[in-house]
Order: sequence, then structure tokens, then C-alpha cells
Amino acid sequence: MVHFVGAGPGAPDLITLRGARLLAEAELVIYAGSLVNPELLALCRPDCEVRNSAEMTLPEVLACMERAEEAGKTTVRLHTGDPALYGAIREQMDALRERGIPFDLTPGVSSLFAASAALQAEYTLPGVSQSLIVTRLAGRTPVPEAEGLASLAAHGASMVIFLSAGMTARVQEELLAGGYPPETPAALVYKASWPEERVFRCTLDTLAETAERNGIRKTALLLLGAFLGEDYEKSRLYAPDFSTGFREAVE
Ligand code: SAH
Repeated sequence: MVHFVGAGPGAPDLITLRGARLLAEAELVIYAGSLVNPELLALCRPDCEVRNSAEMTLPEVLACMERAEEAGKTTVRLHTGDPALYGAIREQMDALRERGIPFDLTPGVSSLFAASAALQAEYTLPGVSQSLIVTRLAGRTPVPEAEGLASLAAHGASMVIFLSAGMTARVQEELLAGGYPPETPAALVYKASWPEERVFRCTLDTLAETAERNGIRKTALLLLGAFLGEDYEKSRLYAPDFSTGFREAVE
């Protein structure tokens, strides 16, 4: 059996209880060494085989899982944040299905939530935006044409941009071209939830300059939108004059 597990954004105590239990039981752990905090490996049994997938190809990862399965062993494939975002898990799941190897998934805390926590921010504010766009700039992995940053910008929604900290000039240019005002509040969050976490608040037109000045090139998220600003409307759910299934409105 192979368990895909979300390791969380970095701080070792941000893995789920289920993820921690699976790690403690595993006989083979293949972890994404580029971003998973190695402190999590302290949860593993002393006899657990631990492999770093940063040094492996997909066929090597699969061969390793196959060998463990043949020996009747339990494998944890440990991915950073939540495995469903930029985790490259689909190709692994399809290959396991082809080989008849059973697997399941345990979600994790995505870095996009460690970043909002670091900023003490809420992505979905009444009167500001009720949608969050999660995207990236094209790098080695292309982005479909219709999802270019400029066309996404047209929605004016809250936005989190992954895998693009080394390309902030392009991010800034495309979002401006898409119609986000230059003074739109923005932020860079480097290594959210790690001891080295750093948070920079800026505006869209100073995004590239802020990244450059602080030497931020990777392991960071770019956040953008009026949700980082001051104005919003209070929620209806907790409004005193609003009845819910749980309480009556007060005059
Ligand atoms: N599945 C992961 C994302 C993997 S893609 C998740 O849910 O968070 C890797 C990218 O995620 C990095 O390039 C960076 O943009 C972002 N990232 C991952 N961990 C981060 C962290 N702790 N702080 C800021 N950005 C992070």
C-alpha cells in the first residue's frame, strides 16, 4: 500500500495527525527533499528506508514503490503542503493503478494557508472578493493560454501565485497589463511557517523591486488583491440583525 501524505508547509507540527501516524508506521518513505522539512523524518521508525525524491526520476520512484509493495511493505510518499497542488501526483497514481498497487491520499496544510496565516489575512472578504485564484507563471511547465495571468487579473479576485518567485518582474508586468491597478496590495511570503519565514508587504507596482531588494527568488508565494487592504464589509453570518438556523436575529 502506498500512502500519499501532505507534509504541510514546513513547520513539523503542521502535518495532520493522520499523516504523522502513517509516517510513524511506514517501512519506506519517499519524501520531496526540496521542500519537505527533514525534521519530520524523526517520526519514522529506525528501520524505515528513507529516500529523497529530489534526487530521483519518476521511473526510479515507481521502481522503489514497486519493490516495497512486492516485499509487503507500507510506503509513504511525502509531498510538501497539500499533494493536490503542484504535487505531480497524478502521474504516480496512474502508474500505481496500472500496476495494481493500492494507494490513498492524506491531505496537508498547503503553503497558501501558511502564507495567509503569516499575513493574518482572510482571502475571501465580503465586498472585496469571494474567490481565490491559485495559479503560477509558465516555467518549464507551460500554463494553458486561457489561464495567462493577464486574463486572470480581469476577475480582480484574490490571487496566490506559486512557483514564480524568481519571475516577479513578469508577474508584475502581466498583472498590470491585465488591469489590476498598480496600487493593488501585494505580499511576498518566504518559507511560510519555517523558522526563516519572512513576510514582505508591498503593492503590485513594487512587487519585483521588493523581491529583488530582499533577495527572494524561490520558496515564496506571491499574494495579491484588495483582501490585503483595509476595506471590507462585515459578514452577514455573524450580523446581529441576521437569523440563522442556530440563532434568532436581535433588533
Ligand atoms: N503542494 C505545495 C506546493 C508545491 S509547489 C503546497 O500545497 O504548498 C512548490 C512551490 O510552493 C514553491 O515554489 C513555492 O512557491 C511554494 N511553497 C511551498 N512551500 C512554501 C512555504 N513554506 N512558503 C512559501 N512558499 C512555499
